[in-house]
Amino acid sequence: MNFDLTTADQTFLEKMAAVAAAVAADGQPAAGDVPEARAQAAAMLGRLAAADYLPLGLDEPAAERAVVALAAMETLATGASSAMLMAAMSTRLLGRAIAAWAGPPQREQWLSPLIEGRALGALGLSEASLNVENDPLETVARRDGDTIRLSGKKSFVINAPLADVFGVVGLIEDRPALFLLPGAEEGLRVGPRIRTMGHEGLWIAGLEMDDVSIAHEAVIEPPADIDLLDQLRCWENEVLIAQALGLMKAAYDTARDYAKSHRTGNKPIIAYQEVGFKLSEMLTLCQTAQLLAYRAVWTAATDPRAGRSLNWCAKVFCAEAAEKVAGEALRILGQEGYRAGSRAEAAYRAAKLTQIGGTSTEIARVKIGDAALGY
Ligand SMILES: Cc1cc2nc3c(=O)[nH]c(=O)nc-3n(C[C@H](O)[C@H](O)[C@H](O)COP(=O)(O)OP(=O)(O)OC[C@H]3O[C@@H](n4cnc5c(N)ncnc54)[C@H](O)[C@@H]3O)c2cc1C
Repeated sequence: MNFDLTTADQTFLEKMAAVAAAVAADGQPAAGDVPEARAQAAAMLGRLAAADYLPLGLDEPAAERAVVALAAMETLATGASSAMLMAAMSTRLLGRAIAAWAGPPQREQWLSPLIEGRALGALGLSEASLNVENDPLETVARRDGDTIRLSGKKSFVINAPLADVFGVVGLIEDRPALFLLPGAEEGLRVGPRIRTMGHEGLWIAGLEMDDVSIAHEAVIEPPADIDLLDQLRCWENEVLIAQALGLMKAAYDTARDYAKSHRTGNKPIIAYQEVGFKLSEMLTLCQTAQLLAYRAVWTAATDPRAGRSLNWCAKVFCAEAAEKVAGEALRILGQEGYRAGSRAEAAYRAAKLTQIGGTSTEIARVKIGDAALGY
């Protein structure tokens, strides 16, 4: 392991903390009203584009940039966790796939609007069972003269109701590929918004493609030695790892500040040994999770094979630590934490997605074991 954050990187991350605070102050994309939510999403993307956040880490394979990109996602998630996921699905997943595997004309047409903050993207990977580990993809494309026809369903797609660009993963001639679709396309239906237990600011919906016509230039097929589904899951895991780090930090900071300022029994509660111990355990988890996460993305960028196993290890550790730290924060915060809208209760609810999304913690454990056994 050999990485460091330069002075310029640290200045950039400080700037990102201010951007995250500004995004949070703008508020969550509004409930119920698609045009208003679209306008808020556009304003959020504008702020992130102006901060040079959106193209971060897309120019492979500089290892140092991988760590900075993760740290920047973590910083945004600390201040504005839902906005971080919205932006990540657009650029860190869809944009990253286009950057990695598309030719110059495709990059110009599809990637430039995403990284310049002019368009919001969504990535549809998971299907009805939502789990690409067990079941083959049922979204399938067939060649039809000059075009390609795509049919299938995706169940849970972040940004779907607001997106300008969709990346849909399906099979063509039995090989997985990424199909790019503009927001409004005949045969493409976006389902009703799905409400979730956390991330009230996210707009999530199912997608249905019924014989959607797609130009050949809008199909991205990675090289034969790339496992598309595995690679996308690995990148999605990095996003969820950064999300977990941000949630943990938000919960820890809130609990620490409260413990110093809230008094009972004529002293600040941090003076009670048990509260101090809790904070020290929370901080230890935050720091350990961060070290493992940075090591995982650095290794993935320098030695992808070794990086896979670390990616799963970091996913499991960070996702479980996030729930633990947020839960302990709620204990320290008492009634203040339990109040709807507190940062710690929002982090506690949001942490669950980091465990079930991407490679779930259960599946990741199986994969870590398989890798250790050399399968
Ligand atoms: C809020 C939210 C947003 C999402 N956004 C997107 C998105 O934008 N794009 C997208 O493509 N997907 C998205 N997803 C889907 C997500 O990435 C996962 O695929 C999905 O959450 C898995 O849920 P499931 O109910 O299908 O799990 P299931 O596969 O039904 O699993 C249920 C349980 O069984 C366990 N399990 C299943 N298979 C195995 C196995 N082989 N070994 C061990 N344990 C196993 C799981 O770990 C889990 O505990 C989103 C999900 C959520 C909740």
